[in-house]
Amino acid sequence: MNQSTESHDIEKREDYEQILKEFGISKIDKILPRIGTEHLFFRRRVVFAHRDFDKILDRVEKNKSFAIISGRGPSNDLHFGHLILFDLIRYLQDKYSCQYFLPFSDDEKYVFRKVDTLEGTYKLAIQNAIDIFAIGFKPENVHAYVSSITPRIHYLALTFSINQTYNAVKAALGLTGEENVGTSYYTFIQAAHILQPTVDHDLPVVVPIGLDQDVYMRLTRDISRRRKITLPGSLYIKYLKGLTGGPMSSSIEETCVFLRDEPEVIKKKIMNALTGGRATIKEQRELGANPVICTVFDWFRKYFVEDDEELQKIETGCKSGDLICGLDCKPKLIEKILNYQEGYNRRKKDVIKNIDKYFDHEVDLSVLGSD
Ligand code: SF4
Repeated sequence: MNQSTESHDIEKREDYEQILKEFGISKIDKILPRIGTEHLFFRRRVVFAHRDFDKILDRVEKNKSFAIISGRGPSNDLHFGHLILFDLIRYLQDKYSCQYFLPFSDDEKYVFRKVDTLEGTYKLAIQNAIDIFAIGFKPENVHAYVSSITPRIHYLALTFSINQTYNAVKAALGLTGEENVGTSYYTFIQAAHILQPTVDHDLPVVVPIGLDQDVYMRLTRDISRRRKITLPGSLYIKYLKGLTGGPMSSSIEETCVFLRDEPEVIKKKIMNALTGGRATIKEQRELGANPVICTVFDWFRKYFVEDDEELQKIETGCKSGDLICGLDCKPKLIEKILNYQEGYNRRKKDVIKNIDKYFDHEVDLSVLGSD
């Protein structure tokens, strides 16, 4: 399932509790002692809810394995907002030695008319793959594939398509009936991505997603029930806030920092980020600022400041007026991003050399040209 970056403020939705209850999703708190809170994603509830992850833990406690599946619709660039998802997967993979299945869903981009040709998305898929693996994945536990050229996925999608009516898909996805048929059929390709590790390798799966993507999980779970396949579990994550305060979007440059952005561009974007600061330094020193609405603080809390004490100091310094957005916090965030980027660019060189080890099929690196 591909990543969305819509749900960073999900708990503020009026219908938040209602949604969890209605769709049988549980808050993460109850199973946290079994997972542990050493990672900030769990400690700070960046992973805030789950469905059936307790059953996955039951298996883990019996020394049985599972798989993670999370796809990527090939597109221009990965940004820092995507890192939460992929770092979470990397963490789970390291902690539980589980397999990670990564479909590059060029077919989704195609049927939803985000690209003109499937061929054009191949290059993007390979570029995205390099970006994702440079986050720090070990190739031995990764199964990446480009969806449209993977016959097994299309075979499974076809067999699943008889288990759901067009009307059910139309209602679930809010389709009008005017869309091309591929948009509804893609539901089954997605179900095939999710269920293939269970069907072919007898591995129950967990899918990390944003709450707004849950409709696809519900459709897939429905198919699983009808086919008597172990139901896929899910972990629900919050994303980084966009730098302008709303959701982060690749198509709105100023909301995000791309992993390929030049240092000067990164500095400019962060220096322009929305904060909870006051109009003047004098005013901020006197009255303090508001970390709750600050995008810089959000990035610190969810990703860039691991140490709880350091985070607490930032929060206290912000509220007291000891810290000033443009003098203290923003330069600190820029430094952390540039540091990350440096290590990341180094890792990318290794990944390119070994890219075929991550894929379940041959990879044509010549599409990258001299990039
Ligand atoms: S001082 Fe720091 S945490 Fe507080 S509003 Fe400014 S940037 Fe955000």
